[in-house]
Amino acid sequence: MNFQQLFAKPPEAEASAPGRVNLLGEHTDYNDGFVLPTVIPQRTTVQVGFSTDGQHHFYSENLDERVDILEIKYTPSGFTSYIFGCIQVLQQKGHTIPSLNLYVKSSVPIGSGLSSSAALEVATLRALRQLLNLAIDDVEIAQFAQQAEIHYAGVQCGIMDQMAASLGDTEHILFLDSRTLERRMLPFPSGAEIVVIDSGIPRTLASSGYNHRRTECQEAARLLKVKALRDVTNSSAVKALPEPLQRRAHHVVTENNRVLEVLHGVSSEHFGKLMNASHASLRDNYEVSVPALDTLVEMLQKTLGVFGAKLTGAGFGGACVALVAAGEGKNIATKVLEQYNNLGNTGRVLIPAGI
Ligand code: ADP
Ligand code: MG
Repeated sequence: MNFQQLFAKPPEAEASAPGRVNLLGEHTDYNDGFVLPTVIPQRTTVQVGFSTDGQHHFYSENLDERVDILEIKYTPSGFTSYIFGCIQVLQQKGHTIPSLNLYVKSSVPIGSGLSSSAALEVATLRALRQLLNLAIDDVEIAQFAQQAEIHYAGVQCGIMDQMAASLGDTEHILFLDSRTLERRMLPFPSGAEIVVIDSGIPRTLASSGYNHRRTECQEAARLLKVKALRDVTNSSAVKALPEPLQRRAHHVVTENNRVLEVLHGVSSEHFGKLMNASHASLRDNYEVSVPALDTLVEMLQKTLGVFGAKLTGAGFGGACVALVAAGEGKNIATKVLEQYNNLGNTGRVLIPAGI
């Protein structure tokens, strides 16, 4: 069912936004640190038009779910909370938002760590900017999207996903300083492309584990008398901390330094080594990996043509990203997936798309 069939008239505006994958800088954004996401080819498209019955009507083609909202006295749950959140944030900033017909369709895998949530928010805000001629820029779109996710979808996220969806492109890696929002578009390491494989392990502990790590980092920063762990640049400074805070802080400090190394321009081989080091630290210091993710990462790392591999996103399940020789992505992904699934796993290739 398309927009026209659902709402009996064509959309008045349409916009899209991509998913993202983070190549380096994991669990650093909420520590005011540095991240290196890139954008994936899969996108979420939002079509909007004016509703004439005083109600909002939201439809997701992916979920085949329609929600009608008349009395906006409470925050709806599920996918509408992200859209409703965007509308609420715009209204708080002084924009008047009329009743809407809104249609979502997406090729971004949902709930796999490629940030379908940020793609949905950014596409929604872009579509509303176009429909209503709103004077908001791309950084504001990212900030409003983050506020919608935190305050309405109830996810304590950093700003990385939304900045990547709003400002990234597939040809570059986005270097982002999450404290100052200073950013640079870095060229992709030469002769390389990315592979993303979902481990098939659901991220059941992800939100509780994520919140727990955030609290540990805040406590570590308090004990070190800094505003955030980003302010610690020398990894030996964390030795004064009790365990496990010492290992948590060690991860954040070294991970930030790995991202900064890339700023100077590194080869694909060197970039890959930094990814491998990142995974080891996520596994041993930050303790957000699971055995299946470690297996998948090791298989990738041992495969010819792979420069490096790591888990991507919050961990506790979800996906792995690898930097591989350009032109080899499809072969490598197919081969490693077969090896991994032969162990009884239910992984699937997310990038390159269409395998
Ligand atoms: P991720 O962002 O890694 O994909 P999240 O759990 O943060 O995972 O966000 C997934 C949620 O975002 C879904 O459960 C759904 O509520 C919402 N969502 C994202 N894309 C869509 C879509 N195309 N249609 C409906 N809901 C979507
Ligand atoms: Mg998300």
